[in-house]
Amino acid sequence: MTLPRGLFDHNRIVRVVLTGGAGFLGSHLADRLLAEGHRVVIVDNFVTGSRQNIAHLGSNPNVLVLEQDCSTSLQVAGDVDFVAHFASPASPDDFKRIPLDVLRVGSHGTENCLNLCTVKGAKFIFASTSEVYGDPVISPQPESYWGNVNPIGIRSVYDEAKRFGEAITMAYHRYRKVDTRIIRFFNTYGPRMRLDDGRVVPNFVSQALRGEPLTVYGDGSNTRSFGYYADAIDCVYRLMMSNEHDPVNIGSQEERTMLEFAQAVIKATGSTSRIEHMPAAEDDPKQRRPDTTRAKQILGWEPTTSLEDGLAATIEYFRTIV
Ligand code: UDP
Repeated sequence: MTLPRGLFDHNRIVRVVLTGGAGFLGSHLADRLLAEGHRVVIVDNFVTGSRQNIAHLGSNPNVLVLEQDCSTSLQVAGDVDFVAHFASPASPDDFKRIPLDVLRVGSHGTENCLNLCTVKGAKFIFASTSEVYGDPVISPQPESYWGNVNPIGIRSVYDEAKRFGEAITMAYHRYRKVDTRIIRFFNTYGPRMRLDDGRVVPNFVSQALRGEPLTVYGDGSNTRSFGYYADAIDCVYRLMMSNEHDPVNIGSQEERTMLEFAQAVIKATGSTSRIEHMPAAEDDPKQRRPDTTRAKQILGWEPTTSLEDGLAATIEYFRTIV
């Protein structure tokens, strides 16, 4: 694979502090970094992360696992070359269940990571989200769009914490000269998502596998564009190796209504489940699709996994844990 030229020599072993390293995306990023020959310090408080996601790394000498809440403090001894802040609950169910944790990890957690970068002379990447666009009134959403966010709504604990996280990242970049990057994930899915996380992919897949009704909220006309984790992680790695400081969207162009997606899951699982409409969720964005032109232009990145293939692999994973 050809990667863009980066700030550090690719042959040098880099030590990366990865918050949320036991989470869905974090654990996949850990695997990628290790495969590229780097060393990883996984920091997780296991509030939504899982020891199972990193069990396969148990004996790897290039991995250190620290059980810490990065929102409270972030203590890592020794050299640190990069900090990747991937810790955060990310499901709308979590926003209602543990709203203060969500706010704190996006705000205090991000600041603690940036302070560690300042002390260690490390680079930084912030895992942000399409939620910074709120309920977008333009589609697809380019990085230049400022969004349409309800600052006091049920989802604001996540949206505003991530917006604050982006703001403090840029402030440390501008005023403290930290070498930063921001990636905005759009509905990324795949193996290692939490079965009970409450988001649409684990919900529909587990419901279909159990033969239960698929719970479509509202009339099912909301759209999402589902991006497979392996494509997203490839983009993260490219961004880490690049010199790009402005936010980069990452996701898929395969936009579906939730009704279409429910039908796709039923077909892919061969389930006999029916669809059941439930009350619409509050402040639920009506549409979402990333404009990924920048990722292509700057990082030479393009997704390679179709929704059909990604869904098949995800269903295989959920079959093992349902
Ligand atoms: N959704 C649904 N049924 C579910 C879970 C979610 O219809 O069991 C819908 C939800 O209303 C939203 C979309 O699926 O329109 C995506 O929701 P998710 O919780 O996965 O994440 P979001 O993209 O809203 O952050």
